[in-house]
Amino acid sequence: MPSVAREHAGTAVTLDAGALVANWRLLGARAGQAECAAVLKADGYGQGLERAANPLLRAGCRTFFVAHVFEGARLRQAAPDATVYILNGLVPGLARTYADAHLRPVLNSLSELAEWREALAGGRAPCALQVDSGMHRVGLATDDLREAKILSADLDVALLMSHFVRSGGASLSSGTARQVAIFDAMRAPWPNVPASLANSSGIFSEHHPHYDLVRPGYALFGGNPTPDQPNPMRPVVGMEASVLQVHAIAAGESVGYEACWTAASPRRLATIGCGYADGIPFGAGGRSGAEPCGWAEIAGVRCPFVGRVSMDLIVLDVTDAPPVARGDNVTLLGEAITVDDLAARAGTIGYEVLTKLGLRGHRRVVNG
Ligand SMILES: *Cc1c(COP(=O)(O)O)cnc(C)c1O
Repeated sequence: MPSVAREHAGTAVTLDAGALVANWRLLGARAGQAECAAVLKADGYGQGLERAANPLLRAGCRTFFVAHVFEGARLRQAAPDATVYILNGLVPGLARTYADAHLRPVLNSLSELAEWREALAGGRAPCALQVDSGMHRVGLATDDLREAKILSADLDVALLMSHFVRSGGASLSSGTARQVAIFDAMRAPWPNVPASLANSSGIFSEHHPHYDLVRPGYALFGGNPTPDQPNPMRPVVGMEASVLQVHAIAAGESVGYEACWTAASPRRLATIGCGYADGIPFGAGGRSGAEPCGWAEIAGVRCPFVGRVSMDLIVLDVTDAPPVARGDNVTLLGEAITVDDLAARAGTIGYEVLTKLGLRGHRRVVNG
């Protein structure tokens, strides 16, 4: 249904709050006794921090993770009582900002740990410690643990965490077992501190590395945490745009910048008012002789992208669809077209698609 707001913004991006909450509950059920937190970094995986946090808060979610302290400060407004961890750790000189807003830094190095301790000067604001079990991005190394144990002696360490290298797929299982063993060895100095290792995919690992708290992000938003198997999650994010123009072209004519696609036979085309500036990946464009490419759904029919994705326009081949007219809706993401599907067709990952979606589109929450 066209809405005025959608017409002004070109696209509409929908967050299904009911599906988000259902996914959170499913993940919690899969995690057994462990608490199910929610990772809402990157503005809630691109869907709006508060839009995502509010239904989860109402459903009973109590612990959240974001990347940056400004995101934490924003979440604190929406969730005065929630536990909020800052994954990217302690920004130099900002310890008081964290403590005053009751934001918990995930301390990722001895230097962060020392600064936190010094800034608190005996105060007891809670924090997390992250150990590096194999990712080698952030976290305490094995050689740091002795000193970390000493530095943390008078601190309120509320969580001991690490992060998986692999986010699903066939290679998940062996790498996971190794990281679980390393994590267990590394957290041994803090036997009584609650532990957390699993992201979305980790929750589904055959090794059940759930510990005390699980940290899903992607699967909350409908991304498939088990890429080799059917997606157990409900789709959460939808995207629609509308048809600007319909026309026919003859065989041999090309479409779009650089003439990357040429019609092999007479085609009927529809141009929609949506492009890479709305988050549809440039890589999803349709080139002659190259598969796959992105597609949109019109009345249940798959209409492939033809030619390059432009900043504000995409051309669809609607030859096989029922007649379409200017102003008609097309679905770019929904039940049939998932973020994983679009990402695979564009040579990227669904995480990137989600976080770049609808920068200027009209947003709405349904089933709230
Ligand atoms: C992003 C992130 C998560 C969530 O990962 P998903 O794969 O989106 O579930 C969990 N933990 C850490 C440390 C992260 O950076």
